[in-house]
Amino acid sequence: MYCKNCGKEMNDNQAICLNCGVKTGVGESYCSNCGGTVTPGAEVCLNCGVAIKKSGGNNGDYKGMGKTGMALICFFLGGLGIHNFIMGETKKGIFKIVMSFCFYLGSIFALIDFIKILTDKYEINPNKLI
Ligand SMILES: [Zn+2]
Ligand SMILES: [Zn+2]
Repeated sequence: MYCKNCGKEMNDNQAICLNCGVKTGVGESYCSNCGGTVTPGAEVCLNCGVAIKKSGGNNGDYKGMGKTGMALICFFLGGLGIHNFIMGETKKGIFKIVMSFCFYLGSIFALIDFIKILTDKYEINPNKLI
């Protein structure tokens, strides 16, 4: 693992870079996988092809829809997981459809997402169900 702020190699279980003092995962100048420089804002490292995890939340970026746009979609169509599909979270979307049709619970999960979006707690994660 490499420091994303200064690019120095560091231990996997280190919490703080001993070179620059920045917390692990903070910074977007270097790839944490290969230590190569990356363009700030890039989603994938051009050296090794590894996806670059953005530090903290989604920075209000909901696939170009904006926070308000995604919150509205979630509020009105969230029971069918539409907002999840837009964000590329197929598993969450399918899960909501199943919950909606089998248990009428999809809208409850959508409401939770809605609140998370409004409070900036929502994290786009295609591997999770909820
Ligand atoms: Zn560092
Ligand atoms: Zn890399």
